Amino acid sequence: MEVARLRQSQPNSPAFTGMSLDRAQMLRKDPAWVSRQLHTPASRGIAAGVDAVLLDATESRLARLPLTPEQQADDEAILLGLEEEVALFAIDLEPARTSAPGRLPDDARVVSLREAGAELPQSEGGLAAYAAALLNWHRRHRFCPNCGGSTVIIEAGYARRCLTCQAMHFPRTDPVVIMLVEGHGRLLLGRRAGWPDGRYSVLAGFVSPGESAEEAVLREVKEESGIDVYRPEFVASQPWPFPSSLMLGFEVQADGGDPVNLDGELDDVGWFTREEVLSAAAERNTRLLLPPPISIARVLIDRWVTRQRSIG
Ligand SMILES: [Zn+2]
Repeated sequence: MEVARLRQSQPNSPAFTGMSLDRAQMLRKDPAWVSRQLHTPASRGIAAGVDAVLLDATESRLARLPLTPEQQADDEAILLGLEEEVALFAIDLEPARTSAPGRLPDDARVVSLREAGAELPQSEGGLAAYAAALLNWHRRHRFCPNCGGSTVIIEAGYARRCLTCQAMHFPRTDPVVIMLVEGHGRLLLGRRAGWPDGRYSVLAGFVSPGESAEEAVLREVKEESGIDVYRPEFVASQPWPFPSSLMLGFEVQADGGDPVNLDGELDDVGWFTREEVLSAAAERNTRLLLPPPISIARVLIDRWVTRQRSIG
């Protein structure tokens, strides 16, 4: 309910937000309750791979698969949460994809996470991101980073515990700052190697240990462009399950200056005029290609474009 209200107040909310399940934070701590959910015929599985999900073949939604007897007997099942009282479990799509494609249901289709984010209704895209990111974390944490011992799933997938040293491990998300840099009515955009011709986007980078998100914004812009910026203002965030980032979107001001690619991460970085960005947003600029709509980068650019249009 809270999430639904948040979305209504933010018409430009990014793809992969809006997951509407009840995560059952308290109930999942009770193994007997989780076991009952596994054996309830109405319970379903949502299948996700490293960067793919399983969609219903006929409806624009994730497939809800009946649980197999093998999945029902799994004492390390991963519960995503409750959907109108129905328990949804995360099912690893990778084994079926790689070794037994014939075992995938006929009435379902595998699509990439990016396609899912672009095609699905918002809450289904959010659920896809959640299932994929959680499964990705479990795949990478079978062994304890503290002592190297084996870890097991507890709380129906919300943590892992080391069998040797008993350390608890919790799913992590990696914070990334991504920022629209404006200076005198122009935008600072950069491009990375391998992007399609003409594609430019806003700058971004991981938050470092011992650093606030605002400090990361200032540092990353300086490293990637040599430009000094000030007054970072938070705009919106977005789960980015490739494999488990949280994008923190900012707007920040600059006084101009000549961009220089200092750290070598970008192929090119430069200022783009209001006219260049507005024509690219209207798909009338063949030299400048903006990032795709599922990215928060595009949400930040589109907000700026809307403001520019409103001031004529
Ligand atoms: Zn350990």
